[in-house]
Amino acid sequence: MGEFRNLIELAPLHNPHNIRGINACMKKLPDVPMVAVFDTAFHAGMPPHAYIYGLPYVMYKKYGIRRYGFHGTSHHYVSDIAAEKIGKPISELKIITAHLGNGASIAAVQNGTSVDTSMGFTPLEGLLMGTRSGDLDPAIILHIMAREELTLHEANTLLNKHSGLVGISGLSSDMREVIDAADTNSNASLALDSYCYRVKKYIGAYAAAMGGVDALVFTAGIGENSPIVRQMICEKLQFLGIEVNETKNNDAIASYADISTENARVKTFVIPTNEELVIARDTKQIVEQET
Ligand code: AMP
Repeated sequence: MGEFRNLIELAPLHNPHNIRGINACMKKLPDVPMVAVFDTAFHAGMPPHAYIYGLPYVMYKKYGIRRYGFHGTSHHYVSDIAAEKIGKPISELKIITAHLGNGASIAAVQNGTSVDTSMGFTPLEGLLMGTRSGDLDPAIILHIMAREELTLHEANTLLNKHSGLVGISGLSSDMREVIDAADTNSNASLALDSYCYRVKKYIGAYAAAMGGVDALVFTAGIGENSPIVRQMICEKLQFLGIEVNETKNNDAIASYADISTENARVKTFVIPTNEELVIARDTKQIVEQET
């Protein structure tokens, strides 16, 4: 458990609550084995060139500073389902999985392994999120800290809780409210445009990283429920083979759907995620191994 506590700084919004949950369960169920399924596990096979940062290598050796990635259980689950739906072994496929919830990340899954993902050392990197900034020039935070005389804690709060959709729109971290306001509020419209543009950029980057793409998957709250966001992301991606059928896209709400056009080279799917199922399967496997 001590080791787990050392990981709090990697995911300050999640780890303290998880530790509290495990402690409470251990008190109530002392004879039941407790298994922690890490959201980083699926990304563990990432090659060094994808996980290393352009910092002195000693920072990696000393502090473990590298890309870890998160939402691994979700990326794992939906990439498996996509392969099943295509009817080919996942070992032959290049899949881009976009987990767009309040937290958001995207992964490049090649031959069943996550070869790159947008979240990094912490869940802060990558896509614009409900309250997190995602990618930014690291010098910006130094500049703001100096100008606003922010403490480390305040800077952390600014980046994790007051940025992203809520930061740009000034309205809400909830994509539904941002979309509703976008027609009349220019900041909401900017937040929506910026959100979709960032996802689109990553799709291009990951198609390049894998040397192509066979399937694109949308999942989580926004990915499963928002035809507008999916349509804005996929616009102008025909050159990659991504073409979305408008009616299928509009009809796909919170359930499995293939939303690609008949002739699209890339299959675009909406796949409701099921992180609980992956966690249950991993737990079963680990407990069986241990006993
Ligand atoms: P999650 O973290 O996966 O539970 O996703 C939560 C987010 O999904 C919420 O913050 C909403 O912004 C978003 N969401 C849920 N339903 C919709 C919808 N119909 N349209 C757009 N966004 C939605």
